[in-house]
Amino acid sequence: MAEQRSSTFQWLDELLQCPACAAAVSRTDDHYRCEVCARRFPIRFGIPDFRLLPDPYISIDDEIRKIESFTRRGRSFADTVKAYYDITPESPPELHSHYVAAMDAAVSRGAAILRKLRARFPETASHLALDLGCGTGGMSIAASSEYDQVIGVDVALRWLVMGKLRLAEEGVSLPFICANAESLPFRKEKFDVVVADAVLEHVQNSARLRDETLRVLKPRGAYFFTTNNRFSVLPEPHVRILGFGLLPRKLMEPVARRLRHTPYRARLHSRRELLRLFKGKGEVLLPSFAEGELGARHERVRKVWDYLRGNTLTRTILTPFVPQYFIAGQKEVI
Ligand SMILES: [Zn+2]
Repeated sequence: MAEQRSSTFQWLDELLQCPACAAAVSRTDDHYRCEVCARRFPIRFGIPDFRLLPDPYISIDDEIRKIESFTRRGRSFADTVKAYYDITPESPPELHSHYVAAMDAAVSRGAAILRKLRARFPETASHLALDLGCGTGGMSIAASSEYDQVIGVDVALRWLVMGKLRLAEEGVSLPFICANAESLPFRKEKFDVVVADAVLEHVQNSARLRDETLRVLKPRGAYFFTTNNRFSVLPEPHVRILGFGLLPRKLMEPVARRLRHTPYRARLHSRRELLRLFKGKGEVLLPSFAEGELGARHERVRKVWDYLRGNTLTRTILTPFVPQYFIAGQKEVI
């Protein structure tokens, strides 16, 4: 696996640096090593693992054991995802179909997000794109037909392992890297675009995700994020509980455990929090969708939303309560 990766993605090594101290890293067969602080970053299942902190849902050792137990040679992407959920009882079975549907829709959803970025920042180049919080790589696959090179980054090694099967089935070749969005293992000013679909609410420090995005973007490079609203009128998307965002944050975890038997590590932002976070660095936008983008089943809802957002009064009333926001910005030329 390691040899295959190194021959396919030699260009990747030019972009990498130590996520802890920003020094150069050099690669051996099975790991990268920082030339200054001597930290070692293993290559696991063919994926460089630059995490400084584990995924909040699972320790690194438990995750490796888990990956070994759900992967089988010859098993398809869909069957591997199913096998993963079968051994993940803390993830509520009644929500699996929602998660799988979201995973399936991620390619067309990703393509739509990339179109929105392109429409807003038409002058951005299309050499190198970063899909931050790529999961199983739906948006990475969409980006691969528009950008010369695409890198997918996620904190969850298990999703990247599943995503590699997906890439192979789709005939797409691009590197995945396991890393924290708050400490990216990339040199500064390398990417033309950074996209992150519903990721901001999953990091421990969203200001650092913002700053890391701006650091790795080239001057005039652009980013486009989507994020779920804490005070949405719809049920919270991870636990699907209506009004969940109104709970004090310290009650969210016990309520999720009680009603859904699942841990809760997301931290959804309100519009006010997002405005503060991106002040002077990006715009917090109401979501908008092109005809057909949400699928035929939701076309009526989309039309109603288009009407409501065009009307000053309803827009003002609904703005704090929409299900999600888009955040878009461009790196200033210094
Ligand atoms: Zn270092």
